[in-house]
Amino acid sequence: EAKSAGSSDLVVYDDAIGRRRLGRLVLADDLRAAVAEGEIDVVYQPIVAVDDLKVVGFEALARWQRDGKQIRPDLFISVAEENGLIVPLGDVVLAKVATDVGALRVGAGSGPPTVTVNVSPSQLLHPGFVASVETAVAAARPFPLVLEITEREDVTLTAGVLDAMSTIAAMGVRFAVDDFGVGFSSMSYLTDLPVSFVKVDASLTAGIDVDERARTLLRSVAVMGQTLGLGVVVEGIERESQLATLREDTTGLTAQGYLFHRPMPVGELRRVLGEQVDAGAGGFEARR
Ligand code: C2E
Ligand code: MG
Ligand code: MG
Ligand code: MG
Repeated sequence: EAKSAGSSDLVVYDDAIGRRRLGRLVLADDLRAAVAEGEIDVVYQPIVAVDDLKVVGFEALARWQRDGKQIRPDLFISVAEENGLIVPLGDVVLAKVATDVGALRVGAGSGPPTVTVNVSPSQLLHPGFVASVETAVAAARPFPLVLEITEREDVTLTAGVLDAMSTIAAMGVRFAVDDFGVGFSSMSYLTDLPVSFVKVDASLTAGIDVDERARTLLRSVAVMGQTLGLGVVVEGIERESQLATLREDTTGLTAQGYLFHRPMPVGELRRVLGEQVDAGAGGFEARR
């Protein structure tokens, strides 16, 4: 049983869990300052058509450098979600993307490809979020914005979520279900939510070139998405043999992965898109 306050209390914190919790608190404080100062960066990872490797879109990914060291997004995003920082952080990201989209007008009349931005379910439920999206979309036109949503245990299909989604959809913004196939994403989200894209998680593509069952599963998910009229994006393509399998088994898919492009700063993205436009008649030839 716990003794009265004293040195024994210190013991409680001198363990791995305590240090981890303290670490996250310190991180949250630093993150709060970074968000307030606009010190969150955004990089972009191109999304390509599997058939011809043209860049058809790009995903915005937040980056945070703390004391000269990159903090993993999985870590600082979850810290932000725990501490209510995800709303201001998301606003910073949206505003940066709107600015960058304005700078990415490459090729007369070609317009930018689809721009996707991750949003946490809690952002959707925040009263200011609809206005933030409206502001971002108004800041850059055309702005073919797609919001990627990852379903989670604590966010279900409440009326509030659906309301926010349909208000935003009415602005011409589309939605994607992210990380499909893992965690809490379920089939019903594809039919019950106003979504246009499904992003198949990397864990479902990891073995398609070596494992017949993984290959069959991915093919089935692709067919299911396409049958529902959704754009299907497969994530985590790292090897030529995965690409070859996709080409053999499917048509009309898009893909994202290190095989094609890594996340890159906006200047580099502009160069990649510009080279594609130069490659001919609005023809985009993805760099490999
Ligand atoms: P996500 O939305 O599923 O993004 C894809 C992640 O896969 C990115 O990780 C990307 O860098 C990585 N990736 C891309 N191609 C490959 C590949 O071929 N192999 C492997 N192993 N990984 C690949 P990243 O940038 O570390 O982001 C992690 C997660 O953090 C994202 O997963 C997203 O859920 C979240 N996130 C990032 N930026 C934001 C943001 O602005 N807002 C919110 N709410 N979440 C964000
Ligand atoms: Mg995503
Ligand atoms: Mg995501
Ligand atoms: Mg994903």
